[in-house]
Amino acid sequence: MAEVLVYVDHVDGAVRKPTLELLTLARRVGEPVAVALGNGAGDTAATLAEHGAVKVLAHEAAEYADYLVVPKVDALQAAHEAVSPAAVLVPSSAEGKEIAARLALRLGSGVITDAIDLETGDQGPVATQSVFAAAFTTKSRVSKGTPVITVKPNSAAVEAAPAAGAVEALSVSFSAAATGTKVTSRTPRESTGRPELTEAAIVVSGGRGVNGAENFGLIEALADSLGAAVGASRAAVDAGWYPHTNQVGQTGKSVSPQLYIASGISGAIQHRAGMQTSKTIVAINKDAEAPIFDLVDYGVVGDLFDVVPQLTEEVNTRKG
Ligand SMILES: Cc1cc2nc3c(=O)[nH]c(=O)nc-3n(C[C@H](O)[C@H](O)[C@H](O)COP(=O)(O)OP(=O)(O)OC[C@H]3O[C@@H](n4cnc5c(N)ncnc54)[C@H](O)[C@@H]3O)c2cc1C
Repeated sequence: MAEVLVYVDHVDGAVRKPTLELLTLARRVGEPVAVALGNGAGDTAATLAEHGAVKVLAHEAAEYADYLVVPKVDALQAAHEAVSPAAVLVPSSAEGKEIAARLALRLGSGVITDAIDLETGDQGPVATQSVFAAAFTTKSRVSKGTPVITVKPNSAAVEAAPAAGAVEALSVSFSAAATGTKVTSRTPRESTGRPELTEAAIVVSGGRGVNGAENFGLIEALADSLGAAVGASRAAVDAGWYPHTNQVGQTGKSVSPQLYIASGISGAIQHRAGMQTSKTIVAINKDAEAPIFDLVDYGVVGDLFDVVPQLTEEVNTRKG
């Protein structure tokens, strides 16, 4: 069976969930060979093996943290030369997409970004994408070179599938371009204790109907009861009620959680573009004619100031 390279997103050896999801998808198209880079790369092996990696190509070097993406592209290219894989899979973060694009260019390959599913095909892996503000679902395959495909978080369930996960040192020589852009400082983002918006299994979002920054506490309380991330519509962000880092939509982040709860959001096309691939969508809106109700699985016509606190209380009661 052909091997498939999986780029590992990890923090000091702790593998992030989107990579484990990638391993589930990679197993459909070949034998996953993980590529782990930077500090703690070797420490990822046990987790990766548990989720199906037959091999872990690891390389630790200061360059991965000290410079922007090029050292990682160099390493993936080296792994590609060593393995001759049937595909290269990368998590669909901003960094992942840049790595994928640069790698595809170097390999003379086609690239597919933001896939939401992956299956085998007669002529290589077939990727599903949700395009044009989620108005169409397309299936595509790369017709030139080794397919390089980025996959959105939450596109597959994490499934344990124990494999050998033998660690092998990857030999990488950095290109002249690798040290072209140095990271000069880092400021850790203040942690809210909530999951990362694009990776969260549940997202609770508030819009103009929340009517003020001070009322976003209601949205946060519901999110915390569910262990969810908080999102916001552009109207709420533009009003200064919530940070732009939490904006969901065409000019914000694209999320695809198991559950998306929209409160006081009308469902404009630009908002839908960022959340329409969510598995289950719930809306709370006092206007029964709001367009968001066209795409929901469950809708509550009501005032969010009545509904959201009751929902939070109910979730907390059932948890307790
Ligand atoms: C180029 C471009 C890019 C854009 N990018 C984005 C983007 O990335 N993300 C995004 O979200 N938007 C984006 N927009 C803006 C988008 O068109 C909408 O204006 C925006 O999504 C509206 O936000 P909203 O639903 O919160 O507000 P509104 O459309 O004003 O809807 C508010 C809703 O709250 C309901 N409501 C009010 N009070 C209550 C209450 N007490 N209880 C329950 N319901 C209540 C109302 O019935 C209404 O349906 C973009 C627009 C453009 C032109």
